Amino acid sequence: MKAMAGGYARATDVQHALDLLAGADGMGRVLAGGQSLIAAMNMRLSTGDMLVDISRIADLRGVTVEENRLRIGALTRHAEIETDPLIAEHAPLLTQAAGHIAHAAIRNRGTIGGALAHADPAAEFPACVLALGGMIHVQGPDGTRDIPAEDFFVDVFETALEDGVILTAITLPLAEASEKHLLRETARRSGDYALAGLCLVKRAAGHRLSAFSVGPRPLLALAAMERLDAGDIVGAVSALRAEIDPTGDTQASAAYRRHLAGVLLTRAMAEITGEPA
Ligand SMILES: Cc1cc2nc3c(=O)[nH]c(=O)nc-3n(C[C@H](O)[C@H](O)[C@H](O)COP(=O)(O)OP(=O)(O)OC[C@H]3O[C@@H](n4cnc5c(N)ncnc54)[C@H](O)[C@@H]3O)c2cc1C
Repeated sequence: MKAMAGGYARATDVQHALDLLAGADGMGRVLAGGQSLIAAMNMRLSTGDMLVDISRIADLRGVTVEENRLRIGALTRHAEIETDPLIAEHAPLLTQAAGHIAHAAIRNRGTIGGALAHADPAAEFPACVLALGGMIHVQGPDGTRDIPAEDFFVDVFETALEDGVILTAITLPLAEASEKHLLRETARRSGDYALAGLCLVKRAAGHRLSAFSVGPRPLLALAAMERLDAGDIVGAVSALRAEIDPTGDTQASAAYRRHLAGVLLTRAMAEITGEPA
């Protein structure tokens, strides 16, 4: 099937994009890498949108360290994240995640801002930003707003982003020298969406654990984090299995996804502690 758009305009800067969205009578839709949106349009899951192409806006690109935080522009592509030295040093969880996303062709065009705004519950980057305690920066007709990742993901493909608003950047705390980051997932084939996945961050202050592909949105596993901080890995696995809310589909049953999440956590903790799983 062919995609059916209600128009197209390329924005030259963020204000131009906001003006184009405001003038589209509620039908404006941001186009970034197009790797999810164009696929949805081709399947006619999305029709009649006025596409506002932000892909050439230079201000939305780039990775920098500012005021003790790592800043990643919304248009930073998955392939750039995979190889960026600042990200490898300060947020290696994202470097690991990028290698799991789809295939090179998709990673060459897909953007981190698009992945967060799209909010696929099986996607890696939303869960990473949750585990890292990230902040999502947005700009709309009423100005700018900073949304903690914990408040951003609402439901399947649903976020706190309002219509006419653009996600501009993500900022993250810089990893401490002794911090450990692990992303572990199980997929049927390399490049497929995960059947279940986990992001684990071990900081001096404690553990942070998020899970993806095991519920309607990425989950910060608070009860499991508490058990990990208490040194109770078996309890953490039980807590995680109780916290997640997977559904069954043609790929895997809910029970199998729940089982997998526990296995991934046991193995990830074995890697971190050096104890056998
Ligand atoms: C075959 C295939 C396999 C894939 N496998 C994986 C995978 O394993 N893991 C994974 O995480 N992803 C996967 N993806 C999705 C891919 O990572 C997408 O690139 C990503 O989810 C969306 O990024 P994009 O820049 O292409 O966004 P687009 O497709 O351009 O946009 C997606 C949505 O986000 C909105 N949007 C985009 N940018 C912004 C912004 N800055 N502000 C506000 N709204 C915005 C758009 O309006 C649209 O609703 C796969 C995609 C394909 C086609």
